[in-house]
Amino acid sequence: MLLPPTEKRKQFELRALGLRDFAGVAPDQALDPFELARFARLMVVELDQIEGLSAESRSHLLGKAANEWSGGASSQPLPNGWRIVILNPLHGIQRNRATLMEEVAHVFLGHQPNRLAAIAPDKKAGPGRMLARDYNAADEEAAYAIGAAALVPYEALRRLVSEGRPANEIARRFRVSTQLAEYRIKVTHLWAEYKVVS
Ligand SMILES: [Zn+2]
Repeated sequence: MLLPPTEKRKQFELRALGLRDFAGVAPDQALDPFELARFARLMVVELDQIEGLSAESRSHLLGKAANEWSGGASSQPLPNGWRIVILNPLHGIQRNRATLMEEVAHVFLGHQPNRLAAIAPDKKAGPGRMLARDYNAADEEAAYAIGAAALVPYEALRRLVSEGRPANEIARRFRVSTQLAEYRIKVTHLWAEYKVVS
């Protein structure tokens, strides 16, 4: 099995491969986080579906603050055990997929939130923190990195890079943003090769 060179990335990759295994996707196939979310008992809801969210909060989240949040899960489960996830509708489906994958990873990794996530802007927390920082920094790093690795697995990535495929093509194949494909190329130490062959 091909794994990235650093110990940290190896561990992340193994977890990510576990998630892909669970989802039953082929090595070079795109993973659908919406499919996995059901197993993680995460219910993706639209901002419009949230009752009790004031028009003011809504226009703040989709206006001035639109770039300051990508999404998040409620810390409090519903009576049926499911938790609600909201994704920023302005960020596009590729970014939404990465955000949701991170939330799925938190659940599969058994991370415990360290504070309640607020949906409305929190004056004390300041702007930009309202849906973020539900977990400690190490858990955030792991969930993001493992989620990204599950979306763009190393072995297929390495082959595509060696074939000289550009990041935007790799991104399309795995249905992620070009930025996420580039992030994966960098953290798995394929960037030098990518720069040479592409
Ligand atoms: Zn997170």
